[in-house]
Amino acid sequence: MSLTNRILMAMAAGIVLGSGLEVLLATIDADSSLAQFINTYLIFGLFDVVGRIFIASLKLLVVPLVLVSLICGMASLGHSARMGAIAGRTIGLYLLTTATAVTLGLVGASVLGPGRGLQVDSPTAFEPKMPPPLTDVLVNIFPSNPFAAMAQGEMLQVIVFAILVGYSLTRAGEAGQRVAGWFRDMEAIVMKMVGVMIELAPWGVFALLIKLFATMGFSTIVNLAAYFLTLSGLLIFHGVVVYGLLLKATTGLSPGILRSKMRRVWAFAFSTASSGATLPVTLRTVEKRLGVPKSVAGFAIPLGATVNMDGTAIMQGVATVFIAQVYGIELSAMQLLMVILTATLASIGTAAVPGVGLITLSLVLTQAGLPVEGVALIIGVDRLLDMIRTAVNVTGDATVATIVAHREGQLDETIYNDPHADSDVGLEAAAAETSEVP
Ligand code: ASP
Repeated sequence: MSLTNRILMAMAAGIVLGSGLEVLLATIDADSSLAQFINTYLIFGLFDVVGRIFIASLKLLVVPLVLVSLICGMASLGHSARMGAIAGRTIGLYLLTTATAVTLGLVGASVLGPGRGLQVDSPTAFEPKMPPPLTDVLVNIFPSNPFAAMAQGEMLQVIVFAILVGYSLTRAGEAGQRVAGWFRDMEAIVMKMVGVMIELAPWGVFALLIKLFATMGFSTIVNLAAYFLTLSGLLIFHGVVVYGLLLKATTGLSPGILRSKMRRVWAFAFSTASSGATLPVTLRTVEKRLGVPKSVAGFAIPLGATVNMDGTAIMQGVATVFIAQVYGIELSAMQLLMVILTATLASIGTAAVPGVGLITLSLVLTQAGLPVEGVALIIGVDRLLDMIRTAVNVTGDATVATIVAHREGQLDETIYNDPHADSDVGLEAAAAETSEVP
């Protein structure tokens, strides 16, 4: 069985067994020794530990990978001065797709009306955590200490530092070439580590999902079914139709191929609910399965994981309208415009970790003059939706990277169209490659 299918099987098994455990725990006595055993040793023991180790190992790869891929990408561009065009196109497309996503969320929820006539208990007090002001966000992009930036995982700062190093390498003559060679070797090694992680993914994904579904609490989803269905429907629509049309219209490439190659990345995004933790897999997939060159992928993917969150933006739109409907507030055109603007800008300043969309939502609601306590209405169902929107977030990054590479005339279409490109990675493939070395 292919690795991707094994990961998807592990996902399905985790979801089914986790839900089964939840049902079982609800039916047996919570003090019985069986319930104690399941809770202590399985859910919060074995599965929790394996899942957390899996996420830690993914995060471990993020900083080294972003640093070396971006430096190598810049070095491969040489003196061609294309970086400005690549950066401009990438950022432009990220902003455009995010604004489209919020608008889709607002319009979709206004038409479908998930919150109309809904009676909910008045929500418990909610303490919003506010993101930093936009000026700080801008200043924080520029590192004063590269090692601190790497140690704290400040992705935008690492990106700026890597661009500077990469740029200087290409202009430092022989010394630059020697160091660029070293970074290329490092990149091959870090990519191999990502391969090993992907190989171990079935276990990690299984452990994460079984714990999550065993503790999810499905009853809240039933109460908020209209919100849940509207949002997940719009997320899938954006992921499939909007990106599909965008890719087809701008490049003529088949969106079906992109989607089929993204399945492995989706499994990671879904089970970790973090674009940041998924980044190593997204980057490897975009380079080795979609044929995007390092110069584009090394920039677009880490940047996208940090600033481009279309799934999160759709959630902002739907949640804002939903909360307004529940409170019986009519949104004015000005308020709608405010939501589009703040949601697009706020997504830049928030981190790629689980649940951050809720923090952004507090900001959007405040800006639009809506009650921030409304966030408490949707917290119960947010985790599962977070998993879906993270999958949309990473698809947006990969789609934009593919489009930019194609426009630059640098997309390797043979790799894009090859269904088996990088389909088996990791231990076995690494062993096979090593044994080929004379
Ligand atoms: N979990 C999302 C991500 O990492 C962000 C969010 O919507 O909460 O992409």
